[in-house]
Parts: sequence; C-alpha cells; structure tokens
Amino acid sequence: MKMILDPGIETECWETQRESDDALYRSQIGYLVAHSEFYRDRLAEAGIRSAEEAGGLADITALPLTGKSELRDAMETGLGLGPHVAVPRQKIARIYSTSGTTGEPSYVPLTATDLKNWIRISMRSYAASGVEAGEAIVTTYGAGPFVAGATLEAFQGLGLTLVPLGPGNTERLMAAVQCLGPEAIALTPSYALHLAEWAGEHGVDLAASSVRRLMVAGEPGGGEAPLRAELEAKWGARVTEAMGIGDIAVSLFGECEAQDGMHFSGRGLVHMELIEPESGEPVALEDGASGELVLTHLKAEAAPMLRFRTRDHVVVRMGTCSCGRTAPRIRCVGRTDDMLIVRGVNVFPGAIREVVARFSPLVTGVIMVEPRARGVKQPAPLPVTVEGAGPGADQTLAAEIAQAIRDRLMVSAEVRLVPPHSLPRSTYKSRLVDFTNAGN
Ligand SMILES: [Zn+2]
Repeated sequence: MKMILDPGIETECWETQRESDDALYRSQIGYLVAHSEFYRDRLAEAGIRSAEEAGGLADITALPLTGKSELRDAMETGLGLGPHVAVPRQKIARIYSTSGTTGEPSYVPLTATDLKNWIRISMRSYAASGVEAGEAIVTTYGAGPFVAGATLEAFQGLGLTLVPLGPGNTERLMAAVQCLGPEAIALTPSYALHLAEWAGEHGVDLAASSVRRLMVAGEPGGGEAPLRAELEAKWGARVTEAMGIGDIAVSLFGECEAQDGMHFSGRGLVHMELIEPESGEPVALEDGASGELVLTHLKAEAAPMLRFRTRDHVVVRMGTCSCGRTAPRIRCVGRTDDMLIVRGVNVFPGAIREVVARFSPLVTGVIMVEPRARGVKQPAPLPVTVEGAGPGADQTLAAEIAQAIRDRLMVSAEVRLVPPHSLPRSTYKSRLVDFTNAGN
C-alpha cells in the first residue's frame, strides 16, 4: 500500500477520536455563540445560551440539526452572505458557489485557514487512492465558481502533474489522454461511462491507454458494483471514489486502494454522525449501520456548520482497513430525498438499479421506479420499469429480477420490461423516480 498523507492522524485509534475532538468541539460551539448570529439564535431557541450549556460531543445529539433550507432562508433574510457567517468580509479569502440540485445558488465563504484545511482534507482523500507524486492527472472539474476547484490545489499539493481540461469537450480530453499519457483522470462516473461509450464508437482502445486510475466523484454511482466493473473493464483502470459536501469540505471522503468504501478524511476538523432521516434520531456509528450523514465543523472560521444534514444516505464500514487507515468508510446509497419506504423497509432507487444491472446484458441498466402513492411511504409491490435488451428479456426475466430485488433489498417489486431506449436516458445524477402515475 502507498503513502498515508498524515499517518499520525489517519492511523490513530478511531475510538479515541471523540476524546481528542471534544475540546475542539467545545471551543467551536463557543465561537458560534460569540460570532454566528444564526447559531446564537438557533441554540437560544433550544434553551442554550452558552458553550457550557451545550456541553461536549457526548451531548451533541440534543442540539438542533441544520437543514439546507433553514440555512437558505437565513441567507435570504440576512444582508450579504447571511447571518451564519462568523467573520467580517475582509477575513474571507475565497467564496465558492454551490449550484445545488434545487433553486438558487448559495455561497460558501472560506478564510485562508479554512481553505488550507479543505485542501489538506482533499489531499488525504486523494492520497488514499494511491496516486503518487510525479504521476499526471487529467481533471475535468470546472475550476471556476464551484467547490470542486479546490481539488486542483490538492492535486498540486500531492506533487502530481496537473492537466486541467474542464468538463464537456470529449475530443479534446481523448486527445490529451493519447498525447500526454496521464496515469489518472478525475471525473464523474457518468462522464467516465460516456467516454467509454464514445471510445467504443470511435475505435479507441481505452484499456490500452496510459490511464490506470479513474478517480470518480461529484455524483453517486461510482460505488455501485456493476457500473464500477464496467468502467474498470472498459478503461483497464482501477476506480476509486471521493465525495465532498459543499458546505462542509471538498473531497471529505476518499476511497483507498482496498476499494471498500470512502474513508472519512476530515479527522480533527469535522465530526461525523448518522441519523434516521424520518425522525432525526441518532444512529450509532457501528459496522454496517446506515443513515443520513450529519456533519459538524470542529475548527471552521468563516461559516462553521453545526449538525449539518447532508441529505446523503450512507452505509458505514468500521474497523481498521487493510491500508492501515482507521477512519470509518462509507458508501453513499442515495439522496435522503429519494428514499422510499415500502412496508416499513427503506429502499433507494440507486440500490434497485444496482440489483437490476447485475442482469446485464439482458438489461440495459436503465430503470425507472414509478410509485403508486405520493410521498415516502409506498404500498407493495413497488412498480419498477426496466429496459430489457434482446430476445432473452421476457416474463421469466422480469420474475427473476423481482425475486433478486426481494432477496437483496427485502422489498416486493412489480417489474415491467420495456424495449431498450424507452426510458429517458441521462446521467447517473438524474432522478430514478417518476411520480406521474402516483395517486394522492
Ligand atoms: Zn483503506
């Protein structure tokens, strides 16, 4: 296994992390009470007027959660960047925008120290993937207004030869791969798939290219086994995944060469928790646990977040990894907003897609979940439309897919096969649920 960027931090016993974070957390709460109008008000509503009253990390679950919409409302009522910002504008070194999946863009301000911490976290995550100084990496992330731009500084910090290309120009990217011989590419999983299909159509043998590492991020999907297997075969490269949260830190989670989930890379800077998304109740951070990821800054200056709801639903692996890192590893299984509950069982459309994709090449892998009811709770069976491919896609196959969904996800599904290209095709980011046929 390769370099661990901060071995003293990344291989430290996880069980003692909470102890060392506790003092940082108490100090961060004191800072919020002193400098953040937004949190001063939110905590006061919960009956907490000082850091002492808030207590330590052991008491964090008693504090209010912060939703993106509450933050957005506050930003709209406040002047400038919003009442959650804890420093004067003159102390802010950089302001990123988040595009968001809904509504208006919001701003993420960072002091010089915040930015330095972001880059360090991102460097830990990307070092985990196994890239080494001297290797060349092509990046397709827009460096402009968006937080992903900070990863460019992380790649530079790791001593890589950086080839920034930006998104969208496939021919230029392929030319750079052929001409410059990079060892790695950073991109979204759907773009990696698109490039593989493009290469197939243009007679380009990607597996014979110099690229040995695909570093995917920016959307879920890179952790889904069938997609990963397809990308690895077509590119002849290892896929590792990273995930950041715009309001917390870029590349906060990064997968190592063991490919068993993304390590939490924010140790000493961010505290992670899980909650049950419906009730907001805490979920213990144990091996195999799943829930919505909730994050709290420990040392942020410009816009520290307290119990920020990411809306990302993750499954956690605990224990020391074969790479030596001791931080939890996660897989993101979907957006909390996409979660459906069928007879008491939580199910994510991405998980259904993953089960269906195992039937390739009898299916194209494109699916649409078409609930009968509005809202989260659904009657059984759950209607799932699947694109079949070829003559083998018949009623027997539909029954086998329904059985596989029941076996793996414990959800009863009604599978309807349709011809290839019947469903809207877009990226892995697109919604997999269509409520058009749902009653009220
Ligand atoms: Zn590892």
